[in-house]
Amino acid sequence: MIHDECGIFAAFDPTSTRQDAARLTFLGLFAMQHRGEDSAGIAINQQGTLLCQRRKGLVTEGFDAVAINVLQGHAAIGHVRYPTPVDSSLESAQPMLIKSRRGQLALAFNGALTNSAQLRQELQAQGAIFQSRSDSEIMLALLARHQVLEDRPETALSKMQSEMFGAYAMVLMTSDRVIGMRDPNGIRPLCIGELQGTLFLASESCAIDAVGGQFVRDVQPGEIVSLTASGIVVAQPANNTRCKTCLFEYVYFARPDSVIDGTNVFASRVASGSVLAHEHPCDADLVIGAPDSGLAASIGYAQAMKIPHGSGLLKNRYVGRTFLHPNQSHREMLVSLKFTALAEAVKGKKIVLVDDSLVRGTTTRHVINLLRKAGAQEVHMRVASPPLQYPCHYGVETPGQHDLSACELTQRELVNHIGADSLGFLSLNGLQNACGSNLNQCTACFSGQYPVALAPELAASIRQIDPDWFFNRVEG
Ligand code: SF4
Ligand code: MG
Repeated sequence: MIHDECGIFAAFDPTSTRQDAARLTFLGLFAMQHRGEDSAGIAINQQGTLLCQRRKGLVTEGFDAVAINVLQGHAAIGHVRYPTPVDSSLESAQPMLIKSRRGQLALAFNGALTNSAQLRQELQAQGAIFQSRSDSEIMLALLARHQVLEDRPETALSKMQSEMFGAYAMVLMTSDRVIGMRDPNGIRPLCIGELQGTLFLASESCAIDAVGGQFVRDVQPGEIVSLTASGIVVAQPANNTRCKTCLFEYVYFARPDSVIDGTNVFASRVASGSVLAHEHPCDADLVIGAPDSGLAASIGYAQAMKIPHGSGLLKNRYVGRTFLHPNQSHREMLVSLKFTALAEAVKGKKIVLVDDSLVRGTTTRHVINLLRKAGAQEVHMRVASPPLQYPCHYGVETPGQHDLSACELTQRELVNHIGADSLGFLSLNGLQNACGSNLNQCTACFSGQYPVALAPELAASIRQIDPDWFFNRVEG
C-alpha cells in the first residue's frame, strides 16, 4: 500500500460573525478522510485566542457533534494524517500550536522537506527544542525565528520558503488571519473555495464541495495567499513554474470527484484506462476494475476496447485500520478478508482486470487467484500507471525499493509472480497525457527524476532501474 500523509483544510469568515469554522473544517476533513486515518486535529480562533484539539483515529472518532459545537470560532484549520514509520505519536499530530514572540501560531501541513535533517540540526544548534520528529515543528521553529524580526507573518513565511526544500502545502493561522502556502513546484495540492463569504483552503476540491462551497481556484506554485478581514489577499505571487503536481494524486490518492490544478481526477482516470487500452489491447469477454481505485480506469479501458464492463469483485468496506499490519502474512489475510470474487459474473470468461497501480503485487496475486478459483478462464492484468520503481521523498509513504515488485522482478517474472495470463503497464507519457498536458507533473516514483534535489545520502541510496531490464519484452 501507498499512503498519502495528510490532508489540510481551513475555514475563515472575514466578517468574524459566523462562529461555525470548526464545524465546516470537520466536514472538510471528513471528505478528505482518505488522505489520512491515523489522527485528526482542528485548531480554532476563539475571539483572538487559538485553541487546538488533536485526536487519534478517524475524524468522526475524534470529534462528535458535541465536541464540534464547543469549538466556536470564526476561523479554523484542520488536518488528517497517516502515520509515518518513524512517528505516529499524538505529539506529532497536527495542527501544531505554538506561542511566538508575536503571538500564537497554528500550523498544518502536508508533504515533506528534503532538507529537514539539516534544518533540524541548524535550529538545534541555535537552541531550538523539538518534541517530535515532525517537519511541522521545524517549520514552526523557522517561522518563530523569522517572526522575531518580521512584522508580517507572510514575510516570515516567504523567508522560510526560501530555506525549505521539498514538497508541501500548508495553512497557518494567526490571531487575525489564515495563510496558505504551496511549495515552489506546486507538488502537493492546495485550492481555495468560498461559501457565502466564508473562505476555504483545502488539499482537495472535494472538501470544498462537501461544505457546500464553490471552488475559487488552485493556489499556484510558490504562492502565499492570506484570508483576512478584507478577503483573499495574494501576499506573495506565484512564481512562473508550471505545476509539478504529484502524478500519484491522479492515479490513486485523490478522491475521483476532486479537480486538481485544472484536471478532473475521475476524467483523468477514465482517460488513463482508455490510453492503456490503446497501448495494451486485450481480446476478452469482460473488463473489471479492482475496487475501488481501479474502477474509473477500468471504465475507460472497457469503453475503448468496446468490451462489456462489469463487477467481478466485491470489497468488504469494513476492513480498515485494525488490519494495517506491516508484515506479509497479515497483509495476505487482509486481502482474503477484503475481496470476494463474484463467481456468477466471471465463470468461464476471459477477464481483463484493471488496477490503478502495482506496488508489492501481494493484493494483485490474491485477487487473480480469487478470480481463477471463481472460474475465470483467463485473467489479463492491466495497470493504469507505469511500474512503480522509486521511493517518494515528498510526503508520500512508499515501501523501500526492495519491496516494490517492479524493482526486484522483470515484467516477465512479474506476470508469473502475480499469476496473470498477461500484464500491461500504461506508459509514463500515456499517463501524463491522460492527466492534463498543462501540467509538468512530478513523476519521480515512476521515472526516478526527482524535481527537487534530495539530500546527498538519500540520493545515493536510490538504485537506478534500467527500463530495458524491466521490460525485457513480454507480450502485453
Ligand atoms: Fe507523487 Fe510519486 Fe512525486 Fe511522490 S514521487 S510526489 S508520489 S509523483
Ligand atoms: Mg488498489
